[in-house]
Amino acid sequence: MNIRWVVPGLLAAVLAAGCSTSAPEGNGTAPSVPGSASAPPSATPGRGPLAGRVVVLDPGHQLGNRAFGSEIGEPVDAGGFTKECNTTGTATRDGFPEATFTWLVALEARRELERLGARVVLTRSANTDDAWGPCVDERGRLGNPGQPGPTADLRISIHADGVLADGATGFHVIRPERLDGWTDDIAKPSRRLAVLLRDALVRAGFAASSYRGREGIDVRGDLGTLNLSDVPAVMAELGNMRDPQEGALMESRAGQRRYARAIVAAARAYLGVSGPGRQG
Ligand SMILES: [Zn+2]
Repeated sequence: MNIRWVVPGLLAAVLAAGCSTSAPEGNGTAPSVPGSASAPPSATPGRGPLAGRVVVLDPGHQLGNRAFGSEIGEPVDAGGFTKECNTTGTATRDGFPEATFTWLVALEARRELERLGARVVLTRSANTDDAWGPCVDERGRLGNPGQPGPTADLRISIHADGVLADGATGFHVIRPERLDGWTDDIAKPSRRLAVLLRDALVRAGFAASSYRGREGIDVRGDLGTLNLSDVPAVMAELGNMRDPQEGALMESRAGQRRYARAIVAAARAYLGVSGPGRQG
């Protein structure tokens, strides 16, 4: 039903390589296709158990990245070293792009978090072929103290993997490795956030990765989005888009909602707000 996400075959090899990150654009054209649009306006933050809390949701990649290779290939600071600004992301075997999946999950999670009173900051404001980025450094810094806009309580970066190996399935949550001068200030609370997100995903019925990390959690020091964050941060690889079953789930509205609900449950638990699935 959604045909906008068909990916040219030429890109398949690139897309299969997997995942990286990026940030805000704002010039969406509001097409009628879900998943290829500007973000609907935010609700007015206000009442609810999460009132006064700020959550950064970082939907990985941007639909247009595939058309802006030189722009997203530019090196940016990734925490004491440089890395390319962003990548195209991966896609399901049907060509449903990771950028669209992460966008739809982020919008769904935002809706629920705002309903609970939180303020949600998205690192990009559209999912469109006309835009690229933002780069990983921008995605990592948005919501930090001293940055324009509100200071966040936590950051959750949303991605999905693209692994071709048979039997590679399941999610993993990446927490930042402790790097002096970069993540030493956030390593411990980020670890807690990672455990809560892992637990929420398991409770939602998702299996931990069969191919990466340990019990659904991995630790990495090479991700600018995590290294540059000054607020507790994790990156969720929600599953393997190349696996036919997981890919189909990611393409479905019901699947996107399930992933989003787990993200919301984790944010709630991290912020210590009681509700179904409270974990402290
Ligand atoms: Zn990705």
